[in-house]
Amino acid sequence: MSRIRQQNVTAAQWSANGGALGSPDLTVPSNQIFGANVFTAEVQRARLPKHVFKALQTSLARGQVLDTVLADSVAQAMKEWALEKGATHFTHWFQPLTGMTAEKHDSFYGPTGDGNALAEFSGKELIQGEPDASSFPTGGVRATFEARGYTAWDPTSPAFILENPNGALLCIPTAFVSWTGEALDTKIPLLRSMDALSKSAVRALHLLGDEATTRVFTTVGPEQEYFLIDEQYYYERPDLVTTGRTLFGAKPPKGHELDEHYFGSIPERILACMMETERELAKLGVPVKTRHNEVAPNQYEIAPIFENSNVSCDHQQLTMQLLQNVARRYGLVCLLHEKPFAGVNGSGKHNNWSMGTDTGANLLEPGDTPHENIQFLFFCTAVVQAVNKHQALLRASIANVGQDHRLGANEAPPAIVSIFLGGELGKVFDAIASGEAAASSDNGFLGLGTPVLPPLPMHGGDRNRTSPFAFTGNKFEFRMLGSSSSLGLPNTVLNTIAADAIDDLADRLEAKLADGAAVDEALIAVVKDVYTANKQIVFGGDNYADEWYTEAAERGLENLRSTPDALPWFIHEQTVEVMSKYGVLSERELESRYEVAVEQYATKINIEAETAASIARTMLLPAAIRHLNELLASERQGLIDEFAPLVGDFHKAIVALEQANCDPVLEGMELAHHMRDTVVPAMTEVRTIADQLERLVADDLWPLPKYSEILFIK
Ligand code: ADP
Ligand code: MG
Repeated sequence: MSRIRQQNVTAAQWSANGGALGSPDLTVPSNQIFGANVFTAEVQRARLPKHVFKALQTSLARGQVLDTVLADSVAQAMKEWALEKGATHFTHWFQPLTGMTAEKHDSFYGPTGDGNALAEFSGKELIQGEPDASSFPTGGVRATFEARGYTAWDPTSPAFILENPNGALLCIPTAFVSWTGEALDTKIPLLRSMDALSKSAVRALHLLGDEATTRVFTTVGPEQEYFLIDEQYYYERPDLVTTGRTLFGAKPPKGHELDEHYFGSIPERILACMMETERELAKLGVPVKTRHNEVAPNQYEIAPIFENSNVSCDHQQLTMQLLQNVARRYGLVCLLHEKPFAGVNGSGKHNNWSMGTDTGANLLEPGDTPHENIQFLFFCTAVVQAVNKHQALLRASIANVGQDHRLGANEAPPAIVSIFLGGELGKVFDAIASGEAAASSDNGFLGLGTPVLPPLPMHGGDRNRTSPFAFTGNKFEFRMLGSSSSLGLPNTVLNTIAADAIDDLADRLEAKLADGAAVDEALIAVVKDVYTANKQIVFGGDNYADEWYTEAAERGLENLRSTPDALPWFIHEQTVEVMSKYGVLSERELESRYEVAVEQYATKINIEAETAASIARTMLLPAAIRHLNELLASERQGLIDEFAPLVGDFHKAIVALEQANCDPVLEGMELAHHMRDTVVPAMTEVRTIADQLERLVADDLWPLPKYSEILFIK
C-alpha cells in the first residue's frame, strides 16, 4: 500500500466511548447528568447554613458584595463539595485579553504547623487570587515591573468542576483586574455593560408604564461552527499545528462539496464524539440543544439554549475547550479557526441576542397585547439606532486575523454591517416612517388595538441568511463573529450601544410625555424620527451581491475590509464617549484592547509567514526537486519543460517571503499594515505555486496530507 493510502486506513480507526482512561459507557442512562459538576443554587441551598444561603442570594440579586464571614462559609461548603467530587485543586478561572481562558492551579492543602498538611480553602482564597499576571497581554496598562493583577470571584457565574482522567479541578469563575483597577479581561466590561443596559432598559420600561420590572438581563445563545478532522492528518500538517489553518493545499475537485452534507446524517464516529462532548458539557450545566452538519465537509455546529450573557459567555469558552478536549478521545482534532481550508466554507459563530426582564418578558418579542407591542417597537428601534451609529465598532469587536479570510468572501456576511428586519416588520417601520401608521390588519398581523399603531407581524418573519445582523422573530442574530472568538467583547459593545440608544429614545419619549402626549402617540412619533434617521442601516436584499457593495457605499455605510481597518474604532472618539459614559471601558482600557489586538494581528501573521516559509523550504521544495529528478531521469522533455520553471519560481517566491517577513523595524499599526500589505501577499504567492506543484508532484512524494483526505475521511 502506498504511504498515503496507509495513512487513510489508520486515520479511519476509532473506538466507542472515547476510548480514554476511565470514560464511561454513554449508553447507561445514569451516566447522563445535567449540572452534576456545578455548584448550583440547589447545591448551595442544601449545603449552606440557611442564613448564608439567603444572604448570598440577596446580594446576588442586588448586585452587592458578600462580606468575608459569609464568604468563609461559602468557601467551606464549596471545598467540601469539590473534595467529594474528587477535586484536589482549585483555580481562579479567568478570561484575559488573549480571548482564551487562563487558570493557575492550587492544591487545597495547606501546612498545619506540625509538619502535616490539611485541606484548606478560605473565603479569602475564594474571593481573591493573585496570579503572576506578567505574561498576560495588557496593552501597556501594566508594566511588567508592576506585574500584580488580581482575580476576583464572580458569584453570578457558578463554580464548576473540570474532570480529567487523572483527577478533578474546582474552577471558580473570576474577573481579572490590574492593581490599579483596570479590567484586564473580557468579563469585567461585559458585567459592566449588562448593568448599564439594565439601568437604561428599566428606566424606559417605567416610562412605558411597566413598574414591576427591576432588572433587565441581556441574553445570548451562540451557534458555534467547527471542523473535526482526523488527528493523523493534523499532526502531519505543521501549519495546522502551529497556526490552526492550512497554509497550503490545493482545492478539492469541484462538486465534492455537496450541498446534501448540510443537515445530512451525521457520521457515526462524529456523532459519538458529539454525544460525549455534550455529556461533558451537560455535567457543567451547559444547556446544549442542537447539533448538525454544516455546509463544508467535516464541518459541524453546536448550539445551546440561550442564557444570561455572562453565564453564556463562560459556557461558550467551556464549549470551545471541551470540543477540543473530547475530540482527541476519538482520534479527532477540533478546528476552531475561522478559515482552516482555503476555498472551503469557513466557520463563524452566530450571536443570538435579546433582552429579558426579571418578570419573564422578552423585550424583543412582539406580543399579544398593544402594550407588549409598544414595548417591542421601542426596543427594536433602539437597536436599529445603536447598530447604525456604532456599526464600525461592532465590526471592530469581531475583527481578528482569521476573520480577514472569511468576511466578505461570499460565504459569510460581508464586512459591511447592516440590519435585516424581515419583510413584515420592515413594512411596519416604513408605514410608521411615512405616517400611514394605521394600516389595516391583514392576515398574519397582530392588531395593536389603537388607531395610531400599526399591526405587527405575528411570525418571526422571513429569513435572510446573508445578513450580518438579522431580526429573527424574538431576538437579533449578530452573525459576524468568528468561530474562535470570545463572546465577551462583541456583547459588551452590543449591550453598551443599546443602553445608549435606549436612553436616547427614553429622553425623547420623556420630553413628549412631559408635553402631555399619550404614550402610544409619543412612541410612534419617536419611532418615526429615529427610524427615519437610521434606516440607511436596514437592508433586506442579498448581502453577498456585488451591487450591495456599491449601494452600501452610496448609503455611507462603513466597509472595513481588514482587521487593521477596523481596529482604530476601539479608540475612536465616539467609542470612547459611549464606553466611558456608561463606565464600561475607560479610555485607557480601550487603548489597551486596541494595542493587544493590533499586536496579536501582526504576531499571528508573522507566525504564519515563518511557518509557511519553513514548510515550503524544508518539505515542499525538496519534494518538488525529487520529482524533478525523476522527470530528468525519465528524459521526458515535455514533462520537464512543464515542471522545471515552477521549481525556480517557487524558490524565488520563498526567498521573497522570507525577506518580507524578516524583522521589519516597525511597530504597532505600521507593522500591522506591513503584515497585511507585504507579508500576506508574499505568502499567497508561495502558496499559489505550492498548490500548483501539489497537483503535479508524484502523490507518494508529496509530504502533506491533501484536502481530499483531510476533509473526506470521517
Ligand atoms: P436558528 O434558526 O438560527 O438555528 P434557533 O431558534 O434554533 O435559530 O435559535 C438559535 C439560538 O438562538 C439558540 O441558541 C437559541 O437559544 C437562541 N435564542 C432563542 N431565543 C433567544 C433570546 N431571547 N435571546 C438570546 N438567544 C436566543
Ligand atoms: Mg442561526
